[in-house]
Amino acid sequence: MTSHERQVSSHVAAVRACRLCPDVMPPPVVVGVPRARIYLVGQAPGTNEREQQRNFCGGSGRTLFRWFASIGVEEQTFRERVYMAAVLRCFPGKNDGRDGDRRPAPAEIERCRQHMDQELDLLKPELVLLVGKLAIDLFLPRTKLVDVVGRTFPFEHNGHGCMGLPLPHPSGLSRWTQKDPGKSLLGEALSLLKKHPTWQSVFGHPIPPQ
Ligand code: SF4
Repeated sequence: MTSHERQVSSHVAAVRACRLCPDVMPPPVVVGVPRARIYLVGQAPGTNEREQQRNFCGGSGRTLFRWFASIGVEEQTFRERVYMAAVLRCFPGKNDGRDGDRRPAPAEIERCRQHMDQELDLLKPELVLLVGKLAIDLFLPRTKLVDVVGRTFPFEHNGHGCMGLPLPHPSGLSRWTQKDPGKSLLGEALSLLKKHPTWQSVFGHPIPPQ
């Protein structure tokens, strides 16, 4: 095991052991992919993710991986090469009296952010996929989905330059991608992703001539 792999593995163990938030349902979901050049930030695990200890393994995941398959990358390959993280690493619990899961509290998001910051320092990814409004808000606060999906955003983390690419959340509860402008903007975002040099290099597709 290289020293980088050891560092990622000890980070993963530390996140798994985290119990800082009293109102969430641990254990945290974290799967380490050392040397990943692409990093994905989702919202928070649901019941399936908590049980199976894998990000996006329920209904939202089926939609998300269908999007990626439409640009040539299958789920297993994606999971092996992309570090999948989330704004909150623990299942927040169900939404009282309404559909869906509880929206994480600002204090929980702030507390959990340390795990993402450490991962960005460890991995120094080139491309960061921001899936859903909560993840987008961490990097592009006070923006609307319609203004950011279909575009890329350069940003810096502790002196390391990355490219952020926002995507809508694939939850079945969201209708945003089912009609325009969301439907077209999702298509534009996936087309940008397919052409991104890091995506092409990580997934072995040829880089088209400029
Ligand atoms: S949500 Fe994040 S900070 Fe809170 S207990 Fe889970 S892993 Fe720790």
